[in-house]
Amino acid sequence: MYDLIVAGAGPAGLMAAKTAAEDGMKVLLLERKREISRITRDCAQVFYVADLTFDRLIRKFKPLSNGYIEPVAVEVLLNKCRFHFLVPGFTVDYSGPLRAYYNKIHLSPGGHKIFLYPPNERLWGFFFDKETFNATLLAGAVKAGTEVVNETLVLGAANVNRRVEVLTEHNSKSIYFKARHLIAAEGRASRIVESLGLNKERITRKPRHRLSFIMEGIEAPYTDNSYFACIVPSISPTGNIGLCLNTNGRNRLGVGSSSDKPPAAILEEFMKLPAYRPWFAHARIVSKLADGSVWRAPIRDPVIGNVIIAGDAGGPETWIQGAVACGYQAVKAIEKEMSGQKGFAHYTTWWQNAFQFNKKKTFGTPAERPYPLDRVNSDEEVDFLFKLCEGKIGPSSLVIGDNLEAVKETRPELYSRLKRSEH
Ligand SMILES: Cc1cc2nc3c(=O)[nH]c(=O)nc-3n(C[C@H](O)[C@H](O)[C@H](O)COP(=O)(O)OP(=O)(O)OC[C@H]3O[C@@H](n4cnc5c(N)ncnc54)[C@H](O)[C@@H]3O)c2cc1C
Repeated sequence: MYDLIVAGAGPAGLMAAKTAAEDGMKVLLLERKREISRITRDCAQVFYVADLTFDRLIRKFKPLSNGYIEPVAVEVLLNKCRFHFLVPGFTVDYSGPLRAYYNKIHLSPGGHKIFLYPPNERLWGFFFDKETFNATLLAGAVKAGTEVVNETLVLGAANVNRRVEVLTEHNSKSIYFKARHLIAAEGRASRIVESLGLNKERITRKPRHRLSFIMEGIEAPYTDNSYFACIVPSISPTGNIGLCLNTNGRNRLGVGSSSDKPPAAILEEFMKLPAYRPWFAHARIVSKLADGSVWRAPIRDPVIGNVIIAGDAGGPETWIQGAVACGYQAVKAIEKEMSGQKGFAHYTTWWQNAFQFNKKKTFGTPAERPYPLDRVNSDEEVDFLFKLCEGKIGPSSLVIGDNLEAVKETRPELYSRLKRSEH
């Protein structure tokens, strides 16, 4: 009998296993992958420290993606850095590569630029290596005594007589494990959440298919500390094409699409555009990473009997830092319960307040990933407007909005369309 079973070895599950084992619990960690720390799903691998999306109404930056909103800090030391989680009050050490992330640049089909911030002035966060980060957490969990079983698919769980039973499949065989507590941390497609009936009430949306080409040899300006978002309606009508440089020296060229066009076709076409073709003259695709999971509204009450839901298993996108915070807080909640305190109630309150997606105003709405210039639907129009605002600073839709009078005389039809889209 284990004190704790952790299902899923992503950032949430690894942090939970490490914390619990270090605190003396008998822990079993179950993961379906063979190589536990290997990243098999697309991820930008940014540790965010700043508020990122721009609220058009209040003209202020607000947290990105409706995810984790408690403050974090990064302390950079000689041979490592430390990620500080200031509200729960814990620290995670990381000794992999780290690169500052300063610029977000919107680009038109012809290559005209609008800078979201003054270049190199505002730090959004750090590009880091998620595989190294996860491997460090895993090593810590193992060192503290966690038993790890890989290549094991968790199929579901049930609360039985104040214990938890977990059904798994390994080499086509069904195996049950029992524990006092269970942390469900298998990410967005959690089978535990499904088996406990928690998905029934959740609003679900059509998956947005995402694909990234991981590439070598791209020759693009600014990529070291920037993220490019290219707006090319003729190729990708429902999502920007993003480009950034990961810490392993490889570029990540990605797109999320909710249209019928496959993301791979969008990326192939993008690389042939005259303005961008030179970037890819000596480039090659090393690998491809996809993501197509269903978006679901968050679970309001993340504790059911002795099962705690942590990370993306309970919310649309908790982000790496939010998932890590969940893993830590879930273990602390169990420890409190074991010493007679109301740990589960505390976890529930924390969960409901630490993530923007649980706030009343944003509950049940997907993260805002604004596609600027909604009603500008031709490449030529995007180019015209970007050329007009070349090098200006601010979210492109606002910058263009502020310069509309210059459009009025030369392009009256475009002007009135943009004017209408402001309301
Ligand atoms: C395109 C994209 C870009 C992103 N970029 C960033 C970014 O730059 N910064 C950031 O902070 N976040 C980013 N995120 C979000 C981030 O990846 C997640 O929020 C975070 O990884 C959630 O961690 P988790 O541990 O809850 O779940 P996951 O990371 O999903 O981990 C779940 C683990 O459980 C395992 N598992 C799943 N099902 C089972 C099963 N049935 N049995 C056993 N094991 C199972 C999986 O193999 C995996 O190891 C991005 C996400 C996407 C899709």
